[in-house]
Amino acid sequence: MLILGLESSCDETAAALVTGDRRVLAHRLAGQEAAHRPYGGVVPEIAARAHVEALEPLIHAAFADAGVTLADVDAVAATAGPGLIGGVMVGLVTGKALAHAAGKPLVAVNHLEGHALSPRLADPDLDFPYLLLLVSGGHCQLLLVEGVGTYRRLGTTIDDAAGEAFDKTAKILGLGFPGGPAVERAAAGGNANAVPLPRPLKGSAEPHFSFAGLKAAVARAAPDHAAADVAASFQQAVVDCLIDRTRRALRIAGGATALVVAGGVAANGAVRAALKSLADEHGLRFVAPPLWLCTDNAAMIAWAGAERFAAGLTDPLDVAARPRWPLDPTAEKVRGAGV
Ligand code: ATP
Ligand code: MG
Ligand code: FE
Repeated sequence: MLILGLESSCDETAAALVTGDRRVLAHRLAGQEAAHRPYGGVVPEIAARAHVEALEPLIHAAFADAGVTLADVDAVAATAGPGLIGGVMVGLVTGKALAHAAGKPLVAVNHLEGHALSPRLADPDLDFPYLLLLVSGGHCQLLLVEGVGTYRRLGTTIDDAAGEAFDKTAKILGLGFPGGPAVERAAAGGNANAVPLPRPLKGSAEPHFSFAGLKAAVARAAPDHAAADVAASFQQAVVDCLIDRTRRALRIAGGATALVVAGGVAANGAVRAALKSLADEHGLRFVAPPLWLCTDNAAMIAWAGAERFAAGLTDPLDVAARPRWPLDPTAEKVRGAGV
């Protein structure tokens, strides 16, 4: 089985070809950091235009890398949400056109499902159910992944996402955009005990998250401390919150066979190391995708497409792009939380 995957929900344009037996034949990606840097964040209109320009050449390059053509593909998978709607539509409409032209089925993939299943692309031994900490630029959730398309949300953020907190901290400290990697680099040269910062919601019963207060505390502390010390103290506070909340979720999530992390913040070394220790403490396997698979890419969309296609889950060509699309539609809305 061969799946073409397309991703365009935020500021990465990407195309990939992935097989049902986990071979990534090609994965091409074009970032837009330079275009958004002057604004200190992603500008939706600029992103959508950049996706239009970048996507077609990336698809051609991916086919050339893999040495296959559209005729060899079994299905076309494209991100259909959630994300910036202009960008999502670029990838989804392109996917529909290719599927229609080639007479192949379309798989409309939830971007978060791409992140959630990406560890299974990296690790053939990862079976359901597993406890997933999904930490990205727009989301911070604890999900019990019970099977393809079956996600039980145990916790979510009541305000900012973890990646958003990294990005805002980078902005406050003048470390540039995108913020996560810059904060991690700065933190390496700082003292994590130098700046007292809060651990919002630590110890509370439900495994939810909150990062807005932490960001505000960073803004108050920044003028009086070295940037490296603030970065290190901030990163430690985020790690402490993630671990405390994940520990709580492990108590609720009966039957999980592994602790899994996915999403852009999963690229952070301190986050990975702390989660590994937590998994060891509970006698659980720890699974984290390689760094390139943590941040946005199309291989994870192709893989989620492969899993859905194998389960018989394809979509009609008039399927809609969705700016919001919760992975667990049964989860109650939590105050201030996004999807
Ligand atoms: P979503 O997946 O929720 O729609 P997104 O696609 O923007 O959001 P990802 O690409 O999955 O998010 O992740 C990007 C986020 O990950 C950014 O907030 C970025 O700062 C953060 N990030 C990337 N690398 C690191 C790192 N090394 N340490 C901490 N955060 C990081
Ligand atoms: Mg990005
Ligand atoms: Fe993402």
